[in-house]
Amino acid sequence: MKLALVTGASRGIGRATALLLAANGYRVAVNYRQREAEAQQVVEEIQRQGGEAFAIQADIADEAQLMAMFHRLDEEDATLAVLVNNAGILFQQCRVEQLDAARIRQVFATNVTGTFLCCREAVKRMGTHHGGKGGSIVNVSSAASRIGAPGEYVDYAASKGAMDTLTKGLSLEVAQQGIRVNSVRPGFIYTGMHADGGEPGRVDRVASAIPLGRGGQAEEIAEAIVWLASDAASYVTGSFIDAAGGR
Ligand code: NAD
Repeated sequence: MKLALVTGASRGIGRATALLLAANGYRVAVNYRQREAEAQQVVEEIQRQGGEAFAIQADIADEAQLMAMFHRLDEEDATLAVLVNNAGILFQQCRVEQLDAARIRQVFATNVTGTFLCCREAVKRMGTHHGGKGGSIVNVSSAASRIGAPGEYVDYAASKGAMDTLTKGLSLEVAQQGIRVNSVRPGFIYTGMHADGGEPGRVDRVASAIPLGRGGQAEEIAEAIVWLASDAASYVTGSFIDAAGGR
């Protein structure tokens, strides 16, 4: 059975992606940082539907925890075939002149460094040059990398810009080693993340300015992620799906 790791999968887009990957026959590693009970609920829902999954704790901003997670995956009787770099953070909405170094470092530690290191470990396991069987990496970026998130969180937007460059560069680096690397850039999606930015109702506030006239659901993003991860996208690498209702 093929193994898929989804980071930050206890809620939101990661949760929806874990459920859809399981429905598509993957054994899913449901990574979480703190919400153990919610991660366990995702695992139980997958099992109720006849799928296979297990929860795995790690703060991907902490290299030691990240390495322990991959070593734990090595003990599985399954090959790591898919990595979905979904974990991401943002903080209270503000302007650039209000940012401090500690916050910027924290955002980049998860969204950029954590994603880089997960990619590094996945390539070591998937790459045919390392004796692997190939695989697929999907980075969950954001429309913010194109738009810049002015007045909200330019630090977050810039971290997603760095992720986009990682997607492009890594896709070319490993194209000959059986690994495809792609990205989904969601727009305004109904998840708990907006409350972390201090505005739980953010999606409804902007909905009328979205060409499709509404915010998106986590399940609609999961569809794009799982397609890119799957063999159905076998000729697609270094690509971006803008799932943002036309924005
Ligand atoms: P969310 O807050 O529900 O999910 C993010 C998950 O990542 C959370 O479960 C969080 O605990 C986890 N996480 C954060 N830091 C982590 C760390 N260091 N280690 C492990 N896990 C960590 O929000 P979401 O909307 O589901 O976000 C998922 C992804 O989609 C994020 O990368 C986000 O930037 C991106 N995104 C979301 C939207 C949106 O409108 N919701 C838009 C564009 C992009």
